[in-house]
Amino acid sequence: MNFALTEEQLAVRDAAREFAQTELLPGVIERDENQQFPKEQIKKMGELGFMGMMVDPKYNGGGMDTVSYVLAMEEISKVDASCSVVMSVNNSLVCWGLEKFGTEEQKQKYLTKLASGEKIGAFCLSEPEAGSDATSQRTTAEDKGDHYLLNGTKNWITNGSSASFYIVIAQTDVDKRHKGINALIVEKGMEGFTVGPKENKLGIRGSDTHSLMF
Ligand SMILES: Cc1cc2nc3c(=O)[nH]c(=O)nc-3n(C[C@H](O)[C@H](O)[C@H](O)COP(=O)(O)OP(=O)(O)OC[C@H]3O[C@@H](n4cnc5c(N)ncnc54)[C@H](O)[C@@H]3O)c2cc1C
Repeated sequence: MNFALTEEQLAVRDAAREFAQTELLPGVIERDENQQFPKEQIKKMGELGFMGMMVDPKYNGGGMDTVSYVLAMEEISKVDASCSVVMSVNNSLVCWGLEKFGTEEQKQKYLTKLASGEKIGAFCLSEPEAGSDATSQRTTAEDKGDHYLLNGTKNWITNGSSASFYIVIAQTDVDKRHKGINALIVEKGMEGFTVGPKENKLGIRGSDTHSLMF
């Protein structure tokens, strides 16, 4: 097995390193101290293709392999961990799931905007009583025919206020326990959905971590 990086992987790493040094390093301490979301930096990362690196180009992604994605993540994390957590949630937790499990309509409507960085996504699993043991989460989604009624609270959600689209994990069939858990797409501004205040953290303070109420 050949473990050497390919020319393309090396080029991705170098581009991410250059970007991190020139665009992320200036002001990184101030952004962290002021708990300032790196809006401009994330916009540039989207333009350079860092927000949907592994997504199929037909959905505006970069079509790259996982190693390239990890190399870029490493370079960005070295300089600005807030930018890298925004990037990792958007790439891994939101785009990946949508591409693998979403319908074509969902991909056209949401994935194309998330992969290009035009919009940011959030992944909502953790709850006040459910962290590592994700199956004990208690948020429910009741099928009301033409819509689902979501009830619950999610905690520590990265991109909590800056996201436009949220993947929310909920129980659609409580009796089936962990086999009755599903993922729903919630758009910011939908009725009954409230973003709680920003949570204080000891590190990666540029990233906005929030509780969400449904
Ligand atoms: C900055 C930040 C961003 C986050 N972003 C998101 C997000 O975007 N979306 C989201 O859904 N969640 C998010 N989270 C939540 C995160 O995923 C949870 O904190 C994580 O799942 C751990 O859960 P917990 O904090 O409740 O710890 P716990 O589950 O209570 O674990 C506490 C400790 O006990 C250990 N432990 C737990 N169970 C066992 C066991 N059975 N045996 C032995 N040891 C065990 C753990 O390893 C850990 O050391 C974020 C958290 C942080 C801090």
